[in-house]
Parts: sequence; C-alpha cells; structure tokens
Amino acid sequence: MRQKLVAGNWKMNLTYAEGQALVTEIAAQAGPAVAAPGAPVVVLCVPFPYLAGVKQQLPESGFYLGAQNCHQKESGAFTGEVSARMLVSVGCDYVILGHSERRQYFHETDDLLAQKLKAALAAGLKPIFCVGESLETREADKTFDYIGKQLTDGLFHLSNEDFAQVVVAYEPIWAIGTGRTATSAQAQEVHAFIRERIARAYTAEAALNTTILYGGSANAQNAKELFAQPDVDGGLIGGAALKAADFTTIIQSF
Ligand code: PEP
Repeated sequence: MRQKLVAGNWKMNLTYAEGQALVTEIAAQAGPAVAAPGAPVVVLCVPFPYLAGVKQQLPESGFYLGAQNCHQKESGAFTGEVSARMLVSVGCDYVILGHSERRQYFHETDDLLAQKLKAALAAGLKPIFCVGESLETREADKTFDYIGKQLTDGLFHLSNEDFAQVVVAYEPIWAIGTGRTATSAQAQEVHAFIRERIARAYTAEAALNTTILYGGSANAQNAKELFAQPDVDGGLIGGAALKAADFTTIIQSF
C-alpha cells in the first residue's frame, strides 16, 4: 500500500535557534507515534542553512529531511545556488519542487521544473512535486485542464522508474497561507483526477502506489477530514508546521 506522509514546509521562517527548539518539541511530541508501525512518514523541509543541523536532531525512526528547492545543474559557477547533490551530502531525502511560490515569485516554468526534477532524481532525492490552480482558474472551471497540463508538462516526461520516487502535492494556490482550505470533497475530486491521470500516463499500479498530498491551510482542526478521503495520503503543511502541537496533531490525524 502507498506511503502516508506529512511534510512540513517551513518556508523562510524561524531563526536557527527557533528551528532547533521546534524540532526538539516535534521529536518529543510526535516521535513515539511516528515510530509506531503504520505511522506516516514525516518530512521536515527546512531552510538550506539549517539542514545539516536539523538532520542531527531528527529521531531515528520515521523522520526525514527535505529541502525547499534545488538547482537544476549538478555543480558549477551558479553563485548562491544549491545543487541536489549538495542536499544529499547533508542528509536530505526529499526536495519540494514546483511550489506555487517558486512558480510565482521566481518564475519557475514547467520546463525548468522538468530539469530540476531530473537533477533531484539523479542525485537520489525524492521530489515532492506541487501542482495547483489559482482562484481565477477554479472560478473559470478550468481546474482539471490546468492541473492536467502541469502534470503532463512538468512530470510525465519521467521514466516509470523515476516516477516511482515522486510524491505529488495538490496545493490550490487560493488555499495556501490564506486560511481558506479546500473542502475535503474538493480535495478528493482533484486527487482522484491526479491519480487517474497517473494511471493513464504510467500504469494502474503506479497510480495506486503514488502518494498524493493535500496542501493549503491544512491544520490541526481539518486534517482528519482531509486525510479520511480515499485519495488523500497526507499533507504538505505550511503555517501549522511551525507549531509543534498543531503539527503533531496533524501527524496523528490518519
Ligand atoms: C505550503 O506552503 O505548502 C502550504 C500548504 O502552506 P499553508 O499550510 O500555510 O497554507
């Protein structure tokens, strides 16, 4: 059966000391539950400078380290950038790619993301690949066309073997950081669509095995209902990942 997963995306928040304190609290509060059989995998996607230190703090069982971005090239004269290989060298297992904030503020296109995906996979990282529509697209009733295109252009160029490493995150842009969550029915509808597209692009088995996360103002109150949907396998959590008690409740919401 596919892996349940909860990823915390800290974005550009917290000092290192605050981040360390948060990891200590999360490990104490959620550690025993995450170590139990059948528990979701937990991924902490922290800012680049914190990766190596946070890796040392993670409990041994069930917790993984993730980055929020990587460069598409292996190495070279790209001042200020961080390669997938560097991320692996400090203990990263996952990397978020295609987050709507990166698409919007850093002009990351499907073409660039395809290159980043290849670089991440070649280095041995598991990409958490984000897709999601704007409010305008949803209101124009074009959600499925839009997400179908993001999947085709951004993801479905991968081989079967590479695709098996990918986690997909459905993050409606209108729900990210807004306090406006998709209803569980809206989330389930899009997740089922994504799974059906994966079955068409790859195989029914690949579709069944792919972890699909929901992201967008998921919190301690709504996670249970969202995670109860048959095609929702966990969450990519922003704001609520910055509070140990809320994040722990979300981890325990399956
Ligand atoms: C995110 O940034 O991936 C996210 C889902 O943020 P939030 O939970 O704060 O909406």
